[in-house]
Amino acid sequence: MSLLLEGGFVVTQDKERRVIPGGVLVEGGRIVSVGDAGARADETIDCSNCAVLPGLINAHHHVANTLLRGIADDLPLEPMLEKAFAVDAKLTRRDVQIGALLGCVEMIRSGTTGFHDLFYWEDEVARAVRESGVRGYLSWATLDEALTTQRGDPVKNAEAFVAKHKGDPLVTPSVGVQGVYAASEETYARARDVAVRHGVRLHTHLAETRGEVYDHAAKTGFRPVEWLERIGFLDERLTAAHGVWLTLNEVRTLARRGVSVAHCPVSNMKLASGGVAPVPEMLREGVTVALGTDSPISNNGMDMFADMKVAALLHKATRWDARVVPAQVALDFATIRAAEALGVGDRLGSIEVGKRADLAVVSLRGPHTTPFYPANLISHLVYSCRGSDVVATIVDGRVLMSDGHVRCVDEADVVARAQETARELYEA
Ligand SMILES: [Zn+2]
Repeated sequence: MSLLLEGGFVVTQDKERRVIPGGVLVEGGRIVSVGDAGARADETIDCSNCAVLPGLINAHHHVANTLLRGIADDLPLEPMLEKAFAVDAKLTRRDVQIGALLGCVEMIRSGTTGFHDLFYWEDEVARAVRESGVRGYLSWATLDEALTTQRGDPVKNAEAFVAKHKGDPLVTPSVGVQGVYAASEETYARARDVAVRHGVRLHTHLAETRGEVYDHAAKTGFRPVEWLERIGFLDERLTAAHGVWLTLNEVRTLARRGVSVAHCPVSNMKLASGGVAPVPEMLREGVTVALGTDSPISNNGMDMFADMKVAALLHKATRWDARVVPAQVALDFATIRAAEALGVGDRLGSIEVGKRADLAVVSLRGPHTTPFYPANLISHLVYSCRGSDVVATIVDGRVLMSDGHVRCVDEADVVARAQETARELYEA
């Protein structure tokens, strides 16, 4: 099966960040040529007046929480969590699956082809991933047994999940740890042991709020990054979400250890975490920075275009410097840097011959993206485009959406089932 995306502007995100007018030819799920005109394929998608992007990658997510969207807005973190936990305790496996499937459809609609998730019951999220065809980097959340609602030992559950899903073409399993406020040294060590033995990655929340940092320092004498460094948890296997409350020394520790950071500006702003993640310092010190939407409870969507814009604006506003986090860097966060952050930069994140064909086609025909020309294309993608401008989404060469029509699942049915599930959830 071959596929040709014809006549667009190919935003390659290669080393030189070239934009090449022309086509992308895909065979067997792999990119076989870029920029060629005149190729033929089994299916052709007309991309005139469109940008062809590497599919966006959401580096920190809790996709099943779509069902909790809008239940705890305009609240600080603590009461928000209280409300969320009350609903969460009622969720069944079926609820989680429909919530995750709804999220997958939302991502496909907005050009996101892969996401890095942290949750329990990732096996249900895996079902939604396979059904919808997006790529899931799924981290089973571990925490201390005394604090969990999971049945059994969370670390053992994570290991069983990893063992079952390793080698799957769409699901890449990994081990998550909730955060230093919910996991002891022993839990962190056991989670790492599972990851090392199975050769998979680690994913944790880190330095999200001042309370987390101060409480941990009061309890242990060390800030979270210092503590994780002391217990030997930090290395290139780890992606840390948030990284808001970091000192320069901690940024340097993350860089030295090769830890990647999933920056979640919208979630941090909405929960009024205070402070701003020191992203300019992370970039200067060589930390790989990606972009995450975080949960639909704290975002409330998963439109990576919106979050690229917010990421760029937040740092300009707080540094009084319009040159900080330019559009190209924001786009890098959501594409090549995200792939590198998840250890798949050799296979994904850019449009280059030999890479897997995860692609998004973005229309530039709207009034809000007019006028466009090659010189303002990257700016438009970050500052003017919206997820709803995505007209086609492709994962591993498979067309999940074209002409704005979701082909892989019955979208109306998924939306109706999610609405019904939420109604039952909130009625009781
Ligand atoms: Zn999170």
